[in-house]
Amino acid sequence: MRRMAVAVIGVLAAIVHAQSTAMNTLGERYVRLVLAMGPHDADYVDAYYGPPAWRREVDAEKVPLAQITIRAETLAKEIAAAAPAASADELTRLRHQYLARQLDALRTRAAMLTGTRLSFDEESKALYDAVAPTHAEAEFAGVLAALEARLPGSGPLVDRYDQFRQEFIIPKDRLDAVFTAAIDGCRARTLQHIQLPPDERFTVEYVTGKSWSGYNWYQGNFRSLIQVNTDLPIYIDRAVDLACHEGYPGHHVYNVLLETNLVRDRGWMEFSVYPLFSPQSLIAEGTANFGIEVAFPRSDRLEFERLVLFPAAQLNPERAAGYYDVLALVDRLSYAGNEAARRYINGQIDARAAAEWLEKYGLYSRPRAEQRVRFIDQYRSYVINYNLGKDLVAAHVDARGGTADNPARRWAEFEQLISSPRLPSGLAPRTR
Ligand SMILES: [Zn+2]
Repeated sequence: MRRMAVAVIGVLAAIVHAQSTAMNTLGERYVRLVLAMGPHDADYVDAYYGPPAWRREVDAEKVPLAQITIRAETLAKEIAAAAPAASADELTRLRHQYLARQLDALRTRAAMLTGTRLSFDEESKALYDAVAPTHAEAEFAGVLAALEARLPGSGPLVDRYDQFRQEFIIPKDRLDAVFTAAIDGCRARTLQHIQLPPDERFTVEYVTGKSWSGYNWYQGNFRSLIQVNTDLPIYIDRAVDLACHEGYPGHHVYNVLLETNLVRDRGWMEFSVYPLFSPQSLIAEGTANFGIEVAFPRSDRLEFERLVLFPAAQLNPERAAGYYDVLALVDRLSYAGNEAARRYINGQIDARAAAEWLEKYGLYSRPRAEQRVRFIDQYRSYVINYNLGKDLVAAHVDARGGTADNPARRWAEFEQLISSPRLPSGLAPRTR
């Protein structure tokens, strides 16, 4: 009887092993397809730290888009046929669903590059596995009225807001000191809850001429390059936002944990490549934005700003609370940015009208509105990954008990989410 049980376990182990070997082969073919997209779409391959030979081979082959599409169709069928049993462990099932869905997004992006036109919502559903809610102009009226009262005067509200913010610009010669202090603060808080490899680190570079304000380029081996765009003045709130979002516990930590848990521990090589226009981006941006609040709940943040960052930037710490009150209101206009992008991508308004919409309903100053329209030109429906992504991630962590009044659980659920391949449509549903 005992010998029989051992034999059965042996057979089961062999089946699991064969399944995982089959998935590894499918995963490698997916990696090669993602890499093959690179020459057709400069923004597509955001990170790759798998075997350099795979990239060399793919580059040498110069795969045309039509061929990528055919290979992706074949691969999709084989992945569908390799579905694990419903009784398989959760991570095995997540791996399979994730690979299938990521490949679907690749096929959509390839179709877009060959001329397929999608509406904003069709595109976000296909690429990011989510659709952002729509909002009418009137829905922003309450917040705009509250800001009118908070920033009284004549002239457009956006100008008064811009004027109000002047006082909170980080002087250029203090930028690096302020960012270093912010990164140290974010890292220290993250390390209290998440164990990271001892040799993880990132470098910061200051750049110009970009449509984004900050970017994390993950390089593998637990290293990131973080770039900060200095085209426009940088306000003090961006220090913690960028340090958490790009670094700890945001993109850098997310990539380090995927590399540790999935690529190195399990040999799941499909996670060594990150295609930007894919569901992975909603999870990446959503966790990076929610991570700001996880690391710095409001009162902690205000204290850190007053005691550390405002002095480092030589700004008046007594003004911090008032500044963050106004920012909390402006943050509620974030979905106005999705509306501008949706109408613009759908061809209902032109670039100029999109910039005007951002000024009026999102309180972007003119240069920032123009920078944002360039971002929408480049990344299109990607914009939803920041605000909808954050809200979906927050709801997921909340629903699993990681509420604001239970920080230990909040960190644990957050870490769990950034260590596993979960799709946006697989997040716990919003309960409120
Ligand atoms: Zn980001």
